[in-house]
Amino acid sequence: MTPPVMAAPPASPVPATPTSCHGQPPHGQGRPCVITRRATFSASHRYWLPELSPEANRARFGACSLEPGHGHNYELTVAMGGGLDADGMVLNLSEVKHAIREQVTGQLDFRCLNGVWPEFDLQRPQGMLPTTEALALAIWRRLAPHLPLMGLRLHETDTLWADVLGDSMEAFLTIRTHFAAAHRLARPELSAEQNDAIYGKCARPHGHGHNYLLEVTVRGAIDPRTGMVCDLAALQQRVDDLVVEPFDHTFLNKDVAHFATTVPTAENIALHIADLLSAPVAELGATLHKIRLQESPNNAAEVFAEVPQLGMRPQALEALAGA
Ligand SMILES: [Zn+2]
Ligand SMILES: [Zn+2]
Repeated sequence: MTPPVMAAPPASPVPATPTSCHGQPPHGQGRPCVITRRATFSASHRYWLPELSPEANRARFGACSLEPGHGHNYELTVAMGGGLDADGMVLNLSEVKHAIREQVTGQLDFRCLNGVWPEFDLQRPQGMLPTTEALALAIWRRLAPHLPLMGLRLHETDTLWADVLGDSMEAFLTIRTHFAAAHRLARPELSAEQNDAIYGKCARPHGHGHNYLLEVTVRGAIDPRTGMVCDLAALQQRVDDLVVEPFDHTFLNKDVAHFATTVPTAENIALHIADLLSAPVAELGATLHKIRLQESPNNAAEVFAEVPQLGMRPQALEALAGA
């Protein structure tokens, strides 16, 4: 029997470029991705404008005006985007760490912000107070030449942080507060059985309570002198007066008029808070951007107060929120 004649394989001096099973380049090369990196530093600051009298400084900035200043443990999250390189990375993390240390944390850690960067030298006419949002913008401008920034979040405390998404003066400022309240989820026009079928335990007749965590995000232009998107103390006062004080330690269905006719789900409470705060935030010169209401560790509602309400969340804010 004659063996079949085998054709010689073609000569192939250069190995073919390997591809994944989907025919794409290996290691995800060229595919887009967003990465985040966290860094911390401690620094002090003082709010004091030389053009104002001592009395005016105290009236305007309260305890933040006290000599010689006070400090915070800042937490910075940097979001960066781009196509993956041949090693499967947007950037080599050691380069990211180096850039953040060299340009930001190494310069600011254990320093007084008012004196360390010329941006915050208030003797210069273009100097700004080192607020959270002004510091976030200054950090953006120092990191942007070195890293493909998409967004930057700076926490001054766990109840105050700023986001910047570019080199413009626009920033997002978020304050976090809390209140405790009871509610019952039931529609009065339905039977007990029907409410039970829809709302389950939440429809039990005497209600139940939650410790609500409330995040209020405003958007606006940073004032070139005060470094503020809006007067922070005034914003906190409005949130206290219009939401925390009237909602705290209440039975929402009976004590807050709006919920006499609207079932107080987390979604409806968040929407009502957005309605209550939109005009007062506008009076402060900013725009109410978002309300986030966390009802329990397992559920939260988010309302975008700007139009259009859904689908407007910038990709970079999304990355920062997950950090
Ligand atoms: Zn401070
Ligand atoms: Zn509930």
